[in-house]
Amino acid sequence: MKNSILGIIGGGQLGRMTVLAAARLGIKCYVYDPNPDSPAFQVCAKSFIKDFDDEESIKEFASNIDAALYEFENIPINTARIIEKFTKLRPSSKVLSISQDRLVEKTFLTEQAGVNTAKYFQINNVNDLSKALRSFGGTGILKTRKLGYDGKGQIKIDGNKNIDSIFNSLNSHELILEKIVPFNRELSIIIARDIKGNIKIYDCVENIHKNHILDITIAPAPGLQAEVSESAKSIAIKIAESINLTGLLAIELFELDNHKLLVNEIAPRPHNSGHWTMDGCITDQFEQAARAALGLNLGSVKRIFDIKMKNLIGSDVKLVKDYINEPNYKIHLYGKKDIRQGRKMGHVNQII
Ligand code: AMP
Repeated sequence: MKNSILGIIGGGQLGRMTVLAAARLGIKCYVYDPNPDSPAFQVCAKSFIKDFDDEESIKEFASNIDAALYEFENIPINTARIIEKFTKLRPSSKVLSISQDRLVEKTFLTEQAGVNTAKYFQINNVNDLSKALRSFGGTGILKTRKLGYDGKGQIKIDGNKNIDSIFNSLNSHELILEKIVPFNRELSIIIARDIKGNIKIYDCVENIHKNHILDITIAPAPGLQAEVSESAKSIAIKIAESINLTGLLAIELFELDNHKLLVNEIAPRPHNSGHWTMDGCITDQFEQAARAALGLNLGSVKRIFDIKMKNLIGSDVKLVKDYINEPNYKIHLYGKKDIRQGRKMGHVNQII
């Protein structure tokens, strides 16, 4: 462990926090990202400032590390496959490819993992869209299959709008239409699985969004019924096992009024809704991802504090001057230079 080198693809805040967690175990991290201002470069052992499709640089990166993980899903699948030829990529490129495409992901979840999602249709043309809308009573959420995040690449359809212009509004014609889920609240759960198939699952949490971006996570989810908590865990295990996960995977869920759960999406990486684990658990999600990638035993996910995590988005970061005087707040800043609207600048974990 002492001399291990972990490769991290992507140098954003998730990569940065993984570097910091790995360092506590004496693990060095090499980070690969084309953007020289990537927050993880400030803290890692070696920076690869190269394009993701630069094969020579990817090969050099992959041949100098013991294992790799990725901190975001939108890396070219070919890059992931090249890395796999030289070292262990955990989660694998197969898991990545499923999570990159909402249609493939939903098909996998419903047909192979045997879990429930919103009803959905593949949409490739206006005709598909009008047919699908008819079957959902004229409403739905139209989403791009690829490259969507924080509510980008999706549009809610809830009236008699012009179907042609809606179909053409997302800069892609590879789409799905999802039925609108009348959820009561949004939950998520994070699971880790090691090389031997051992599993650790963090407590299920509640997530509150503002302008389509995660604002607050409450851990554990307040008032969560024991059966719902068990059902979230069982969904996580079904997905992790059927996808043959090694590594960390986050699962976003909708809780309905009748307490049934539907899976919204999966992310095979540390997740914003797992930032509470940094101050709430024995082993945080970043250390867990590093352990799983390097083939180490997983750490305890025991919750030692209940936490309310608040994202510092854009100018929220100015509130740090207040948080710094609060005894029950732990501040985590990402070292980003410029404050921009909607940009995740940091988060605070309040011990509750
Ligand atoms: P996504 O990018 O798929 O995670 O969607 C972003 C947000 O849009 C989710 O966190 C939900 O609040 C909302 N949303 C997405 N899909 C649906 C759906 N099928 N029904 C209702 N709300 C949804």
